[in-house]
Amino acid sequence: MSTPPRLEVQNLTRRFDGRSVVDDVSFSVLAGQVACLLGPSGCGKSTTLRIVAGVDMQDSGRISVDGNLVCDTVFRVPPERRAIGLMFQDFALFPHLSVAENVAFGLRGGAQANRDRVAELLDRVQMGNHIDSYPHQLSGGEQQRVALVRALAPRPRVLLMDEPFSGLDERLRDGIRDETLALLKEEGTAVLLVTHEPVEAMRMADQILLMRDGRIVQQGAPYNLYNAPADRRVAGFFSDLN
Ligand code: ADP
Ligand code: MG
Repeated sequence: MSTPPRLEVQNLTRRFDGRSVVDDVSFSVLAGQVACLLGPSGCGKSTTLRIVAGVDMQDSGRISVDGNLVCDTVFRVPPERRAIGLMFQDFALFPHLSVAENVAFGLRGGAQANRDRVAELLDRVQMGNHIDSYPHQLSGGEQQRVALVRALAPRPRVLLMDEPFSGLDERLRDGIRDETLALLKEEGTAVLLVTHEPVEAMRMADQILLMRDGRIVQQGAPYNLYNAPADRRVAGFFSDLN
C-alpha cells in the first residue's frame, strides 16, 4: 500500500448565507511539500485554511492527516489535537515573553527543558543571539523569523501559513521567503501557504492550487500553470510576472 498524503482535503464546501464561499475543494499535500493556495482577495483561501486548522467547520467534505480522519460533517478532532501549526500575519508574538519563551510556548516543559531545540531553531534563522530578547526589541523581519520557528518548534505534521509575509517591507520579502523555504525544507513538514501574490507562489510552491470564486480552477507545478494556463484568466493572473 502506498503512503497516504500528509494532508488530504476532499470535497470541502463552506456556505455563508447560502453562498458557497468554498465550493467542492479537493487537494493533497505530501510531506516535505509546499502547496500554495493562490487567488485574489475574497476567493475563499483563508476560509479553507481555517477549516483545516479546525477553527471553522465545513458544510460538507472531509480532511485527513497521514490517512487519519481529522474532520468530516459528524466527526471532529479539536484544533489543539490536530498536530497542525499556524502562522498567520496577525498571529503576533507574546509581548511579555522572551524570544526563547515564545518559541518554547507550545512545547511540554517550556524553554528550560527545550533549550537545545529552541537554540538550534533560532540559529537556523540567524536569531541565536536574540534568544533572551523581547519582541519589542526586534524588527518586523526578526519577529517574523521568531514566529516561524515558534510554529515549527512542536514539529507539526502540517504548517498553515496565511499571507505570512504581507506585513513586511517589500525589500525584505524575497530574502525572508528564501530563508523560510530553506527551513521548511530542512524540517520536512507539509506546508499549505495562502497568498494572493503570484510571484510568491512561483517562488515558494512545489504545487500551486489556483483558486477563484471558491473553486480550484487549476493545480500543478508552478511552471505548468505558467506555461499551460487552463484559461485566459489564469494566464492573466501570471502575466505581470515577467
Ligand atoms: P480570502 O482569504 O481568499 O481573501 P476569505 O476566505 O477570507 O477569502 O473569504 C471568502 C468570502 O467569504 C468573502 O466574500 C468573505 O466576505 C466571506 N466570509 C468569510 N468569512 C465569513 C463569515 N464568517 N461570514 C460571512 N461571510 C464570510
Ligand atoms: Mg485571506
